[in-house]
Amino acid sequence: MLEWLFFLLPIAALSGWLAARAHYKKKYRPQDLKLTPEYFKGLNYLLNEQPDKAIDVFIRLLEVNSETVETHLALANLFRRRGETDRAIRIHQNLIARPTLNSSQRTQALVELGLDYMNAGVLDRAEQLFLELLQQSSPPEQAIKQLLRIYQQEKHWDKAIEMAKRLQPNKNNDIGILIAQFYCELAEQKFESNPSSIAQILKQAHAYDPNCVRASLLDANLSIAAGNFAKALKTLQRIERQNHHYIPEALPKLLNCYQQIDNLSAFKSWLEQLLERHPHMTSARLMLSQIITEQYGRQAAQDFLYQQLHRYPSIEGLHKLLMLGQNSSQTLVPLIKNITNTLVQKGDRYSCHNCGFSGKTMHWQCPSCGHWESIRPSEIHLSNLEKLLESSQ
Ligand SMILES: [Zn+2]
Repeated sequence: MLEWLFFLLPIAALSGWLAARAHYKKKYRPQDLKLTPEYFKGLNYLLNEQPDKAIDVFIRLLEVNSETVETHLALANLFRRRGETDRAIRIHQNLIARPTLNSSQRTQALVELGLDYMNAGVLDRAEQLFLELLQQSSPPEQAIKQLLRIYQQEKHWDKAIEMAKRLQPNKNNDIGILIAQFYCELAEQKFESNPSSIAQILKQAHAYDPNCVRASLLDANLSIAAGNFAKALKTLQRIERQNHHYIPEALPKLLNCYQQIDNLSAFKSWLEQLLERHPHMTSARLMLSQIITEQYGRQAAQDFLYQQLHRYPSIEGLHKLLMLGQNSSQTLVPLIKNITNTLVQKGDRYSCHNCGFSGKTMHWQCPSCGHWESIRPSEIHLSNLEKLLESSQ
């Protein structure tokens, strides 16, 4: 690839020269095109794996003008992709130093130089460069995106928020979700230093993503800390509408609130209704069995779980049942059989040791990561245990 670029150089130079010739026909002198010896010298360096000397020749060889900028950029990008960032930086700096570049070419070269700095891990220089690009009347989107990356890496959440707000929202990028998460990070940072500012920050999170569960959880923490358990309950129960997959995260907090207001019966009926809407929510079922234990004793909880597990088998449920103890093996055996049956029949027997993909049939090439001979027969893969059990009904 590198070699091919060098073959293209004289063509780029020649086209520039021809363009110039069209304008200044009178000044036409064939000896102006003195590229050949130098060019072969550069090529020679390259073939002898002396890229630094080759670059020197290359830079000398081609006066940077609008015709050759693309070639310079292509060569530098190639070096960057190969991890030779220093060389990419040299070429980009050389480009930028030329007064002949037009403004869009200069911007492009600056963006590329910034990407070189990112690659080299010198984030402060990259940040400075991208911030300068932001001063332009229509700043390149790449500058905003890279600054966003830098501020996330450095956990400068208010700056990250500022950048994310400058990005154009579209179907693919979910900027609202991103900004809400940044506000949540900010809120967590302020928990010690400035707790009175948190409520306002969380409000912002919900403004950008009304379904932000994380903001609701943090909001509930605030209410609990202030002793306002009724408000915390309201906030936590709203999570079911926001995204019910995250309810398990809210259950311990809900238990705490209902205990504080001394009304476990209300929690029990809320859980029962929840399970009617989401019958496969094992964590809610286990929480319910815990409440039953507290209110009606271990035997009642065992009976409840035993009967539920036949309909909604789950490993965690079985574990809890065993922990509650005093089951005779006769009653447990059919239940355990039911669960292991499902696993043996539906479990994945092959897994890729490169990417973790698992499946039921042998592939010599992994359908997920494309590696050859990375899939091996294995013990039954248990990663999606609960899903397997769910799908068995
Ligand atoms: Zn794979």
